[in-house]
Parts: sequence; structure tokens; C-alpha cells
Amino acid sequence: MRLGISSGSLDVLKRKYIKEDSPTTLYLMTLQKCLNNCAFCTQAKESHADALMLSRISWPPIEIEDLINLLKEYNPFKRLCFQVTNHLNWEKELINTIKLFEKFNLPISISAPFDNISHMEKFFELGVDRINISIDAVGKDLFKKIKNGDFEERLAFIKEASTKFPSQITSHIIVGLGENERELVYIIDNLSKWKVTVALFAYTPLNGTLLKNMNPPNYYKYRKIQLITFLLQKNLISFNELSFDGNDNLLITENILSIAEPFFEIIFKTTGCPNCNRPYYNESPRIVPYNFPRKLKDREIEEIKDLLRNGRERINL
Ligand code: SF4
Repeated sequence: MRLGISSGSLDVLKRKYIKEDSPTTLYLMTLQKCLNNCAFCTQAKESHADALMLSRISWPPIEIEDLINLLKEYNPFKRLCFQVTNHLNWEKELINTIKLFEKFNLPISISAPFDNISHMEKFFELGVDRINISIDAVGKDLFKKIKNGDFEERLAFIKEASTKFPSQITSHIIVGLGENERELVYIIDNLSKWKVTVALFAYTPLNGTLLKNMNPPNYYKYRKIQLITFLLQKNLISFNELSFDGNDNLLITENILSIAEPFFEIIFKTTGCPNCNRPYYNESPRIVPYNFPRKLKDREIEEIKDLLRNGRERINL
């Protein structure tokens, strides 16, 4: 049986060494095309993208037996993540696959099309560490348009899952799909109260997808959302302390910046399950990362501070 492996993960296994921006999680993907049709996704039913792509990363197929042999020789990973498309029998297949990796004792994350708590329970009983239930597109109309789903239902399911499996739920959110910033951070505030870990992604235009002509978010918007997400997730601020302009765009005040100041080295690193760094999942290695997969350099921190100070309206609250 074969799985897709992210090209970065495969590179680590073949070269047998890690760089500062190598993946710290081993990323694997099922190879069957998805029955869902998310407008941004290369694996969507109607996408014309190369079937071995997920986001801008290629996932070459590998026999599970070969992968296991490579891992026995060299395993620097701190987590194993399965990206699972919605296809017939995915649950049964995944259970069998996970059992093959038990011997490596890695915490396992699954990102899969769960819609049933008792099905999730089976995976946690198997020893899975975390399950991602993606929101992706925040907002009732946006969720319908991009994912053809019911936003309120998805939120209610995440809330129920987070009550049943406290601190074991992750949720992917994509910034830049046209969401309202006030609503976005309001939802992130709710998720934080439910102890759901938010994994932020920057929208990435991809050939073959329905949204291929849409631009990625600007860095100012993305940095603002990263900063506020961090503070909400760490319970350092509440939604009521946030300020917005007349168009519901977030304003980063001096007060917010001073609360965030001690954490600037970590706020802009990749968020999500522990040790998930998703290198270059959203952008080319040649440009400034939206999510830093490695430690930030002092110069990068200063640039972000400048952007947050000067890219915003000057207010002192
Ligand atoms: S946050 Fe990372 S490890 Fe967790 S499900 Fe998403 S991609 Fe996988």
C-alpha cells in the first residue's frame, strides 16, 4: 500500500540530516482524490491540479514498507501527521495504516473529514494524539461558498469534540479568503475558550483550483491575525480588548503591542499541533515566510515590529 509523503519529509529521510528549516513533523497524505470540493484545494473533486500536490508541496507516493525501512534507519521527527482526503473506506484504511507506525512511538495527528464523535473516539482509543477538524473559511456565507458546508454546524461539531476530547482538537484556518477580520478573531476567541489549537494558514493561489486567480493575503493583515491569535490562544487578552476600524479591520494598539512584545520570537512561527512547522507550505522559500518554520532572526523580528507599527493607523489606547 502506498501513501504520499511531503517532499520535505522525504528529503530528510533520504539525506539523513536536518536543517533549521526542515520539517519537524513527518507529513503523510492519502493518495485518493477527495470527494469534497473546497475551492482552494488541489485535492478537491473538481480541481485540475496535479494529483500529487497538496497546497504548493508535492507529495510523491511511497510504499509504506519502504517508508518504514527509511524511518528505522533515521527518524528525527517529533510528530506524525496524516492528511486524509474524503474517500470511500478512509477510516478503515487509516486505522490499519496507523497500526503500522505504532512502533515509532511518535505522537500522531490526523486531519480528516470527521463528522461523527464516536468515529473520532475510535482513533483516540488507538492512541492518536490530536485530530484536526478544519474550519478553513471563517464566516457563514464564505464557508458555504468555499466549502459548500454549514458554518454553524461545523462550529457546533468542533465545540462538541473539544468538550469530549479536551485539548486534543486542532482547527485549520485560512487567512485571506475574504473573511471579515472582526468575525475571524471572534471565532478564534471562541476556539481558544474551547481549548482548540488554531493552525493558521495563508491563502495560497494554486493552479488548477477554482480560486487560482485570487491573491494571497498581505503580510500586514497576516501578521495582525498571527499576533492576536497568539494572545487569544494564550489567554493574554480577551476579544473585548480588541479595536477595529469602521470596516471591521483589526487595529493593533500600543497596548496590544506591549502585551505581545515578550513573545515576538514565537508568535510568527508556524501554529498548530506541537512540533508542526509545515515549511514552505504557503510560500516559496525565496520570500518571507508567512509561518516561520524555524527560529526568527533578529532582523526579521524588527521588520515585523516595524510593519505592525507603521502599517497600522496610529492610535494610543
Ligand atoms: S496542525 Fe500540523 S500536525 Fe496538526 S493536523 Fe495540521 S498539519 Fe497536521
